[in-house]
Amino acid sequence: MELKVYNSLTRQKQTVKPINNTVNFYFCGPTVYWFQHIGNMRAFFIMDTMRRAVKYLGYSINHVMNITDVGHLTSDADEGEDKMDVASKRENKMPEEIAKFYWNICWNDMQALNIEKPEHICPATSVIKEIINFVKDILDNGYGYITKNGVYYDTSKYPHYGELGGMRQDDKQFGARIEVDEEKRHPADFVLWVKAKDNHIQRWDSPWGVGYPGWHIECSAIGNKFLGEHIDLHGGGVEHKTVHHENEIAQNYAKCGHEVVDIWFHLEHLMFNGGKMSKSTGGIYTLNQLIEKGYSPMDLRLFYLTAHYSKPQNFTFEALNNAKESYNNLKKLILKHKSGKNKIEKAKLNELKTKFSSYVADDINTPLALSVLWDALKNYPDSVDIYNLVLDFDKFLGLKLDEIDQVEITIPDEIIAIAEERKTARINKDYTTSDLLRDKIASMGYTILDKPKNEYEIIKR
Ligand code: AMP
Ligand code: ZN
Repeated sequence: MELKVYNSLTRQKQTVKPINNTVNFYFCGPTVYWFQHIGNMRAFFIMDTMRRAVKYLGYSINHVMNITDVGHLTSDADEGEDKMDVASKRENKMPEEIAKFYWNICWNDMQALNIEKPEHICPATSVIKEIINFVKDILDNGYGYITKNGVYYDTSKYPHYGELGGMRQDDKQFGARIEVDEEKRHPADFVLWVKAKDNHIQRWDSPWGVGYPGWHIECSAIGNKFLGEHIDLHGGGVEHKTVHHENEIAQNYAKCGHEVVDIWFHLEHLMFNGGKMSKSTGGIYTLNQLIEKGYSPMDLRLFYLTAHYSKPQNFTFEALNNAKESYNNLKKLILKHKSGKNKIEKAKLNELKTKFSSYVADDINTPLALSVLWDALKNYPDSVDIYNLVLDFDKFLGLKLDEIDQVEITIPDEIIAIAEERKTARINKDYTTSDLLRDKIASMGYTILDKPKNEYEIIKR
C-alpha cells in the first residue's frame, strides 16, 4: 500500500515515491543542552511512527537524525547566545560533556519509549568539515556574502524563500526579527558561519576566520552527507516551518541547484496548562518524572497514539490515567487471545489487516489504527489468530505487545494505607483492630496474605 503524507509546502497529501523502494528520511533531532521533556518526546515518538509506517507498508528506510551540539542560539532566528555555551557556563563543564550527558539521557528515554534507532545519528560537531564545504558551495554559487560577523545567506537570491511558512519577502514577520548585523542585506538573511567572539567556547578554523556554524546549515550538511540530493520525507516540530526549514530549503537549493526534499511534514505540539510544553516557559515533565509517579513508558506511548500528529495534544494526568487503564485492559485482552483456541476466518483477518494498513497509509492516522486494534481484541472470540494479528499491528504501534505475559495490578494507595495501619496493630498485638482492618480490606475487593515478621502481600480478588 502507498504511503500518503500531508506536505506542509504544497498543503496537500502526497504519495511518498522512493527511488529503489528505499525512503530517505530526515528528522530534526534534539539540542542537547538540557533535559528533553515529554513534549520533545512526542516529536521523537512521531518520528518513530513515521519510520514504522514506512517499514510496515513494505519500504526500506534510510533514516537520519542530527544532534544539535553547537550553533543553536536562544532564538531560532540567529539571536541571543549559543544554547551549548550557556549550558557550559551554567554547569561549569565543557560543551562536549554537556552534550554527552544530555544526549545519553535523551537516548535512554527514546529507547524506553520503544523508539527505533535511526540508521544514522549525527552530532553537528562531527561534520564541521562537511559544513564548511557546504558553505563554500553556497558562496561559490552566488547565494551568500561575508560580513564582519560571519557568512550570510542572501535570501533575495532564492525566489521561493518564505513559501513553506506562508510568508512573502516583504512580510512583516521578517522585519520583526531584531537586526544583529547592520551589514545584513535583508532582515530574513540568516547566518551560515559565525565568527566567534573571544569568550565563545566552541570554535573551529575556517576560510572566514575562527568560528562556528549557524544552526540551520547542520541539517542541510548532514542530510547531504547521508542521503545525498534526494530526501523523500523531512520532518520536525511545527515551529521549524517559518525559520529553520525555510532556511534548509534555501541552503539545499543554493548548493544543488534543485529542490532536495519531496515532502515536508510538521507535528503540532504537546500542550500543557494552556500553552506549548516548553523549557523556557516552565511546566514540563520528563519521562523519568512520570515513571517516579508510577506510569510506564508504554502508558505514555499509548497516550501519544490517541492523537493525530497534525493536531496539538493536551497533556493532563486524567488523560494519562486513562491511557494507563487502557494499557492494562490491553494486557488482559492480549492474554486472553494468546491462549485462545478459536479459529478466525482468513478473510476476516485480512479485512482487519487491510483496514489497519489503510489508516497507517493515510498520513499515519494513529487514532484510527488504534480503533482497529481494539476492534480486533474486543469483538472476536479468544483466538491466537487475533493474537498474531495484533503482534503484526504492533510493528507499527510499538506498544511492546509481544512482551506482555502478565497483567500488573496496581494496588490503590487507600488499600496500602489500611494495610499499613493493620501492620502497626499487629506489631502492637492489637488483633481485634487487625481483624477489623482485614475485613475492611476484603470488603473493598482485596485479600491480605500475612507473611513472616508482620510483612504481607495484597491480592486483588
Ligand atoms: P529542541 O531540543 O528544543 O531542539 O527540540 C527537539 C524537538 O522537540 C524539536 O523537533 C521540537 O520541535 C520538539 N518540541 C519541542 N517542544 C515540543 C512540544 N511541546 N511538543 C512537541 N514537540 C516539541
Ligand atoms: Zn534541522
